Amino acid sequence: MNPTGPSPSIGPLEQVLHTARARVLADLVAGDVAQADVVSLVEDSVTQRRWWVEQWPDGSSFVAGLVAQDVQDALLEKYGRWPLCPVCPTGDPHALEVEPELGPDPHWVCHKAGVKVASVGSLAAVTGGKRRS
Ligand SMILES: [Zn+2]
Repeated sequence: MNPTGPSPSIGPLEQVLHTARARVLADLVAGDVAQADVVSLVEDSVTQRRWWVEQWPDGSSFVAGLVAQDVQDALLEKYGRWPLCPVCPTGDPHALEVEPELGPDPHWVCHKAGVKVASVGSLAAVTGGKRRS
């Protein structure tokens, strides 16, 4: 944890949820899909995961990966695949997947190429440098 700690007005649970929300939003921004209705999907997930992590505080480090998967599932129904793989130059467009599905330090992984692409929250480092044509 951050040795300076969260601000006194925010408890550890809120900090976890805040961080998870920020990481997934950063990836949505990186994928250029952070419209208002998409952001509300993140809020919905965070609300559900708040309950989940209250029941199981030991799972707090899993929350970012879970929120990312919730949003991915919700987007698949409404918009289609997200986030699209930025590393495979050819072939059908395909989405990245979160690994581990239930664990700390979640990453976006391309199963086709078999590579870790970026940590959840760090997709901009991979996609941000490229202009989409
Ligand atoms: Zn790929």
